[in-house]
Amino acid sequence: MQYQRSSKLFAEAEKVIPGGVNSPVRAFKGVGGTPIFVKSAKGAYLYDEDGNKLIDYINSWGPMILGHAYQPVIDAITERAKLGTSFGMPTELETQIAQLAVSMVPNIDKIRFVNSGTEACMSAIRLARGFTKRDKIIKFAGCYHGHSDSFLIQAGSGASTFGTPNSPGVTQGTAKDTLLANYNDLESVKLLFEANKNEIAAIIVEPVAGNMGCIPPLAGFLEGLRQICNDNQTLLIFDEVMTGFRLAKGGVQELYNINADIICFGKVIGGGLPVGAFAAREEIMNYLAPLGPVYQAGTLSGNPLAMAAGLSMLQSINNDLELFQRLDEKTAYLETGIKKVLTQNGIEFTINRVGSMISIHFDKNPVIDFQTAKKGDNETFKKFFHGLLNEGVYIAPSAYESWFITDALTYDDLDFTINVIEKVSKTF
Ligand SMILES: *Cc1c(COP(=O)(O)O)cnc(C)c1O
Repeated sequence: MQYQRSSKLFAEAEKVIPGGVNSPVRAFKGVGGTPIFVKSAKGAYLYDEDGNKLIDYINSWGPMILGHAYQPVIDAITERAKLGTSFGMPTELETQIAQLAVSMVPNIDKIRFVNSGTEACMSAIRLARGFTKRDKIIKFAGCYHGHSDSFLIQAGSGASTFGTPNSPGVTQGTAKDTLLANYNDLESVKLLFEANKNEIAAIIVEPVAGNMGCIPPLAGFLEGLRQICNDNQTLLIFDEVMTGFRLAKGGVQELYNINADIICFGKVIGGGLPVGAFAAREEIMNYLAPLGPVYQAGTLSGNPLAMAAGLSMLQSINNDLELFQRLDEKTAYLETGIKKVLTQNGIEFTINRVGSMISIHFDKNPVIDFQTAKKGDNETFKKFFHGLLNEGVYIAPSAYESWFITDALTYDDLDFTINVIEKVSKTF
């Protein structure tokens, strides 16, 4: 495939945008080469500026779970835009999407909308700190909770791709309140609690990790976190920005039947527009301004276009009783096919999957945390990425990302992809 026009557009972009991109992982730094500029997308496919058609396994990093340019969402945005795009005043739409979200997700009474997953997580820990009157939080190495200062400590994903897990500009003062534990390692959490008695406001966790590839929680891990939080009057925050409305209607709380205290959303909840949200039971949410003392605000929060897109998306998900089963079956089919062809070609690999999140690590050992995720062979991943791209299959340009399967994929698309992987893995 030819990417001349994309290369030209990237060169232009680099002159006026740092690195040519508005979010670092788009820049192909982890795999080499120049990013592809998208012209349009429909269903499971991207159409780029050079006229190439690509099968998309990123789907805007998760939001397009029903495929690109999904008609009901496009209609909702179009109709709403005619009525004005922002007021800075309440609209009925905000209540409608809040009611629907609260009805779909277990254990939440109230929800507040923001503009990104970053904002959701940032606000969730402020709320947890205000509510518990404690300063420290625990996060897990390799988990990503957006780019706010408190979280840029071994943050996985884009941060790991570039080998700068701790960003300059984050002060020591901020960093000292973020304690670091290992994913799937309850002992590491217990040690932090022993050393910081009555000081820990919250544990924040990706309940199925997706920012160091896909890593499922081992049996007992989430239950153990719940118990530790109960024993220490600490809040448990599930960052479901990636998993919310993707792994089940009610997210990981429903999937594994565990209650968290605060849930963060993003990605799918906005239907492809910039939306994040955080939610909890009433006593916690009432701590927020204007009811309570914890301040949190946003000029464009609850923006009518974004709420219209999100509402339409959540309605479609809520009304489709077979959606999650279909997604699971399609992804399982892909997993089985990939396993077969990689094994035939003698490649060492591990595939992790939960529902429609799946990732391949080029290492034969189990991948259960950031340490083991880092052992994957990045040179093989680069060949894999470019091999697939050359055949019209687009996966995330980083070995630390999950694939996001969309319901728009057909079994023909999946067979095509498996054949491409067979062909490409012969050349390793
Ligand atoms: C993507 C992501 C975020 C950040 O969301 P943005 O909308 O990119 O700010 C936070 N947490 C998790 C788990 C994510 O996957």
